[in-house]
Amino acid sequence: MSKDKGENPVNKQPPTSDPVKSPEATSFVEMGRESGPGIRTPNLPVYRTSTVLFKTLEEAKVCTESANRGELGATHYGTIGTPTTFALRDALARIEGGSHPCRAALMPSGLMAITTLLLAYLKSGDHLLVTDSVYGPTRVFCKGILAKIGIHTTYYDPTITPERLETLIQPNTRIIFLESPGSYTFEIQDVPGICRMAQRHGIMTAIDNAWGSPLFAKPFDWGVDASVLPLTKYWSGHADVLMGAVIVREEHWLPLWRTVRELGVSVGGDDAALILRGMRTIDVRMRRHEQNALEVARWLEQRSEVNTVLYPALSSHPQHSLWKRDFKGSSGLLSFELKANVQGHKPTPRQIAALCEGRRYFGIGYSWGGYESLILPAWIDALRSVKPWEGGPLIRLHIGLEDPADLILDLQDGFYAMAKAI
Ligand SMILES: *Cc1c(COP(=O)(O)O)cnc(C)c1O
Repeated sequence: MSKDKGENPVNKQPPTSDPVKSPEATSFVEMGRESGPGIRTPNLPVYRTSTVLFKTLEEAKVCTESANRGELGATHYGTIGTPTTFALRDALARIEGGSHPCRAALMPSGLMAITTLLLAYLKSGDHLLVTDSVYGPTRVFCKGILAKIGIHTTYYDPTITPERLETLIQPNTRIIFLESPGSYTFEIQDVPGICRMAQRHGIMTAIDNAWGSPLFAKPFDWGVDASVLPLTKYWSGHADVLMGAVIVREEHWLPLWRTVRELGVSVGGDDAALILRGMRTIDVRMRRHEQNALEVARWLEQRSEVNTVLYPALSSHPQHSLWKRDFKGSSGLLSFELKANVQGHKPTPRQIAALCEGRRYFGIGYSWGGYESLILPAWIDALRSVKPWEGGPLIRLHIGLEDPADLILDLQDGFYAMAKAI
């Protein structure tokens, strides 16, 4: 693509001034709309069902056998799927997979997508490598259920080179679980380098692709075997539905599907329809999130209260060049580190509360990826074991679709309130 011409448009211009060209834009609108018999409508009908009815016993048998093989479109029961969930799975596999043949499964949350993936490919006695910057609940699962069934986790510094990571591999290492950028601290990993190294050892690579998906990160081009998408975030886009997906290369499909079936993981048609609806506008939303976040990030960089802004699209970011090499843009999530005052005192908890509380546009809340802006202190002390955060207090922002000038004024009010609080 652009690489063939020897240039990467992201390198040439900041993303804000890129012409809007999106190979996915048409797919987001076009996919998953086969409306079947009856009247034709822009959207697929929403199927709500537990039971699937058959005309003959033979039909019931044939459908059950195809569903057991995980064939898309074959269902004999509501937990297996309906045309609504099949449409979403098909769109996810094709958009996330790109030119790589992939399959997708749906889970009732992003976290369950992660846990189902790990249970599908690991067994008692196995070892996995997980980035230290991983989403907190993933760490809790590794420490909890995985440890209980005899699966051991080693964490690695997200800025590690593939060569150094190679030295952590054990004879029983089965999976390297990546997340790039990392939760709260936004380190970018050398994912293509790590995948090439893992392939030489026959180790599976899986990535939590929450931040960049679906427009700005293409993990299967980087060489991963599996990608996890918390659809709760940008795919939904409206903070009104929870769902997750695992997308895997074709050859890894059956163990995942069997685990989905054994655990009884399934999602409802109404929720799947909401994610499909979010998908229709994801292209325009992501680009606006990116523009707004860049504007806010650049403003934050100039503030005397702020030490560093952790946002990979800024040239000050430590792995900015990796981001430029691998990503096609940046989304609306970033953190910033508060500076000590002139007397050298770090901001107090009351000052941090004054900054976050009572904002007009920034709600205090977990999750992100909706249309609205959010603010949250990053309490990560318990969430790092290899590379503890040694800087000042970290604040995470999700930059929504409001006018960035309003968001900047709101944050400015927050900094005043912080200065006044003791
Ligand atoms: C939110 C999030 C998840 C989990 O998604 P839920 O649907 O909320 O369970 C997983 N990984 C990352 C990086 C997230 O931010």
